[in-house]
Amino acid sequence: MDVRDLSLAPKYIEHFETQGIESLYPPQEAAVEAGITRGERVVAAMPTASGKTLVAQLAMLSADGPALYVVPLRALATEKYDTFAELPDVSVGIATGDYDADDESLDEHDIIVATSEKVDSAIRNGANWVEAIACVVVDEVHLLNAHGRGPTLEITLAKLRRLVPDQQLVALSATVGNAAEIADWLDAELVRSTWRPIDLRTGVYDDGEVTFDDGTTLSIVPGDEPPTTALVADTIDDGGQALVFVNSRREAETLAQSLGVHGFRQAPDVAAEIGTGATTSTGQALAEAADGGVAFHHAGLRPEHRSIVERAFRERDLAVLCATPTLAAGVNVPARRVIVRDHERFTGDGYEPLPILEVHQMFGRAGRPGLDPYGEAMLVATGVDADALCEQYIGTEPERVESKLDSREALRTHVLATLAGGFAGDRAELDALLASTFFAHQRDAAELTDLVDEVLSYLDATGMIRRDDGLVATDLGRLVSRVYVDPLTGAAVVEALGTAATMDRVTTLTVLEIVCDTEDMSTQYVRTEEAGRLSEFAMRNADQFTKPVHDFEGNFQSWLATVKTARLLDDWIAGVGLPELDERYGVAPGDIRRLAERAEWLLSATEVIAEHLLTGPTPGIGAGQDSETEYEPVLERLRETRQALLDAADD
Ligand code: ADP
Repeated sequence: MDVRDLSLAPKYIEHFETQGIESLYPPQEAAVEAGITRGERVVAAMPTASGKTLVAQLAMLSADGPALYVVPLRALATEKYDTFAELPDVSVGIATGDYDADDESLDEHDIIVATSEKVDSAIRNGANWVEAIACVVVDEVHLLNAHGRGPTLEITLAKLRRLVPDQQLVALSATVGNAAEIADWLDAELVRSTWRPIDLRTGVYDDGEVTFDDGTTLSIVPGDEPPTTALVADTIDDGGQALVFVNSRREAETLAQSLGVHGFRQAPDVAAEIGTGATTSTGQALAEAADGGVAFHHAGLRPEHRSIVERAFRERDLAVLCATPTLAAGVNVPARRVIVRDHERFTGDGYEPLPILEVHQMFGRAGRPGLDPYGEAMLVATGVDADALCEQYIGTEPERVESKLDSREALRTHVLATLAGGFAGDRAELDALLASTFFAHQRDAAELTDLVDEVLSYLDATGMIRRDDGLVATDLGRLVSRVYVDPLTGAAVVEALGTAATMDRVTTLTVLEIVCDTEDMSTQYVRTEEAGRLSEFAMRNADQFTKPVHDFEGNFQSWLATVKTARLLDDWIAGVGLPELDERYGVAPGDIRRLAERAEWLLSATEVIAEHLLTGPTPGIGAGQDSETEYEPVLERLRETRQALLDAADD
C-alpha cells in the first residue's frame, strides 16, 4: 500500500514522501488494515526498526482531536518530539519535566509527548487537557513488565479508560510472546509481525568464528587483540559501523579508550565540538576517543554530549559506539554490526544474565536500511559456553510481560493517588479500579488484597487517609499525591520538617538533608575511603541535621549516603564546578545534574507540604496555633535553596 492511498491530507503525504516513505512496510499496512486510521484500538507488536513511529503518526494524524504519545523514558520524548514537530502545521507539546506542574497550556497542542509519570501526574492534578485527548499512543508497552514504571503505566491506562471511555488507543510493543494478552486486556486488535526492513543474522562469536542463526559463519582471527576489537575492525574495514554493548559506564569508557587508539576514523571536528567546554574527565575522555572515531554513550553523559555523539554516529563521522544497554531502549542509532560483549549485568547482589528481550532489542539496532546491505548482531562468548549462550538468546522467544503491580511500593503510591483523585471512595470502588488493571487481567485482583490492606493501614497511620466513612484522602494525602512523591517520602518529610521547625539553625544543608533522606532521592554510593570523612563532617555539623547524629537510631552508614548527596549539592550551590565535584565525590556530571534536578523537584514538593503544615493543624503531627513561628524559617530556607539550585543549573 502506498502512502498516497491513505486518506491523509496531501501535506502529510508529501511530508512522508520527502522522508523517503512512499509505500508502507508490511506491518504498517497490517496496522492500517486493523483500523489505526479509523479510530480502532490496536496493539502493534513489531521488531525494532520496522517503522512503529509511522504507525503512531498515522493514528494521531487521523484522530478526531488531540493525541497523546506516551513514552517510557525522557530521552525518547525528545527524539519523538523532534520527529513530530517536523509534521506540517502540527503543534507539538512536550511534558516530561516537572512532576507536579499542571500544564494548562498543553491543551493548545495537537500532539502531546509525555512520559507515563507525567500523564499520571496530570491525571492526579486534574489537568484539563487529559480528557480532551482523542487518541493515546503508548510506546514500548511491553515495559508494563518493568518495576516501578510498569505499574504506573497500567494504572494510568486504567484511569484514562475510566476518564475517556471512547478514546482510541494504539500500543506499540516489541515482539513479546504474550502480546495477545496485552491486546486482550486493552480490548484492542493485535497486529503481530516479525518483518524487518533489512535482513538480520544473529549469532555467537567463539574462538575465532561467529556462527549465525542462518547457518553461515564468519571467521575472525583476533591475533593479540581482544575478540571485540577484531569484530569491530572487521566491519569497519568492510565499510560498516559498530555498536558495542557493555554492562557498565566504566566499561563503555575503557573500551572506547582502547578502541580509540586504533584511529578507525579521523573525527577531529566531533572531538573539537565535544572538547569545547569539556571540563570534566568524562568529557575529556569522550573528546579523546572521538578523535579516533570512537565514542561511548551512557546515562552519565551530559545531554549536549549525548546528542553530539548520536548525531555524529548517524552521520557516520564516528565509526564505533560503546554503549550501556540504555541505548538499546529506543534511541534510533543503528549500525551494521551490533556486538553484545557483556551479557550479564551487575545488580547489586551479583551478576545476572540480561533479559532476552533486552538482548533482542540490542540486536534490533543492527543494519541501517538504505545504507547497509544487511545487519548482523552477535554475542561474544568469553569465558562462557558458546552453545549455552546461543541456546539462551539466539532465535528464542523473549520473556513474557508480567505485571509488577503486586509490590508494596507501587500500591502505596497508586492506592493513595486513586483515592485522592476521586477514582474510588470506598474499598469496593478501589477494588473495582484494581480489577481493571493488567495485573487483574493476568492473574487475579484478589491476590492484591493483603498488600492493599497493609498499604491502607500505613496511609491511615501517617495521616494521609481516613477510614471512618469509606476511604477518604486527607488534605495531606491529596497534597502528597499531587506533588507526586511516594507516601514514604511524604511521611518522612512531614517528620523531618517537624524537627527542623524546632531547630535553632536551619541551613541549606538542613533542607538538602531533608529531601535527600527520602525514598524518591537516589543517594550516592559511599566509597570506603569517604566514610570516615563524611562521618566527621556529619559530627561537625550535627546541629544542622534533623537526624540526631550523635545519637543515631537506624543505619548510620546508609544515612551517610544522604549526607554525601546533600553535601555534594550544597557544594554545587556554593559554586563548586562539575570537574571538581567529580573529583571530590566521584560522581559524573550527568548524574550531578540529574541529582540537582531531582532535589529541586523534591524541594518544591517539600515546600508545598511545609506550607500546608504552616497553615493548618494536621492529624498526627500536632502543629498547633503557633506553627507559623516554627515553620516559617524552614519554608524560607526551602525556597532559597530551590532557587539556588535553579541558578546553579543555569550557570
Ligand atoms: P521503530 O520505532 O519500529 O524502531 P522507526 O519508526 O524509528 O522504527 O523507523 C525506523 C526507520 O525506518 C526510520 O528512519 C523511518 O524513517 C524508516 N521508515 C519507517 N517506515 C518506513 C517506510 N514505510 N518506508 C521507508 N522508510 C521507513
